[in-house]
Amino acid sequence: MAVRVLYTDVDGTLVGPLGNLLWDSHRTPTLAAADALVRAAREGLEVVALTGRARAGMFEFARVLGLESWICELGGIRVYDRGATVVHEHGAFPGTGVPTAELHRAVEVLLGAYPGQLEEHSPWNASRESSFLLRGDVDREDAEARLAAAGFGWATLCDNGVIPHRYETLTAVELTRAYHLLPRGVSKVGGVASDRAQRGLEREECAMVGDAAADLEVSSEVGRCFLVRNGLDKDPSLQWVLEAGSGVEVTKSGHGEGFAEVVHRLLDER
Ligand SMILES: [Mg+2]
Repeated sequence: MAVRVLYTDVDGTLVGPLGNLLWDSHRTPTLAAADALVRAAREGLEVVALTGRARAGMFEFARVLGLESWICELGGIRVYDRGATVVHEHGAFPGTGVPTAELHRAVEVLLGAYPGQLEEHSPWNASRESSFLLRGDVDREDAEARLAAAGFGWATLCDNGVIPHRYETLTAVELTRAYHLLPRGVSKVGGVASDRAQRGLEREECAMVGDAAADLEVSSEVGRCFLVRNGLDKDPSLQWVLEAGSGVEVTKSGHGEGFAEVVHRLLDER
């Protein structure tokens, strides 16, 4: 059964450092990812962005790439028809409307608990609707216990991988991680499950490529699951993917060149 949809993470996967589509992992200009997007479009492999980015930021990016649909805010929002149709998933959030205001209050709880250890991942929180982005290094169980004690038991802190950068303000952090604070039940894997159901696609008709643990969770919903090389290089906790039977295929190259390997492999195998 041929793969018809490739879900791709954006930051650290489709695009190079600093979000540059036309850079390889070493900041050398390359057309690898762009070429692969062109081949996918020509040969009928739909590329669906699967990202933690906010909807507004994704809109222009998707227009430039010609994407028909995308899943943003880590599964909290699915967008179809080039932006015309929007589906929200708010998981365990008990309120009405978007959970932004309540998430802001929950963020204050966490920032107060972990000075020098956790901070907002500025400037990426503008226009967010259903998740909040933080950076640092905390014990997630401890953080979620603090959230529950403050009345935010419906919220969870999702680890979205290592940020290969040091921040002077995070004085107590060795390896900086990106975290999404969002309602329980909202996830990339949930977003893909809902999307696949909506499209009526079999698991084997779908593939996923990403660079972080939150991406690899999607493996239960797709026939093929890929990790770009830079994801493994920057995060030692992902070494398990190299074990036989892990169900994860690791690309030879990183970032957009790794994404391109996946596209070419899927299309060559048709
Ligand atoms: Mg990523």
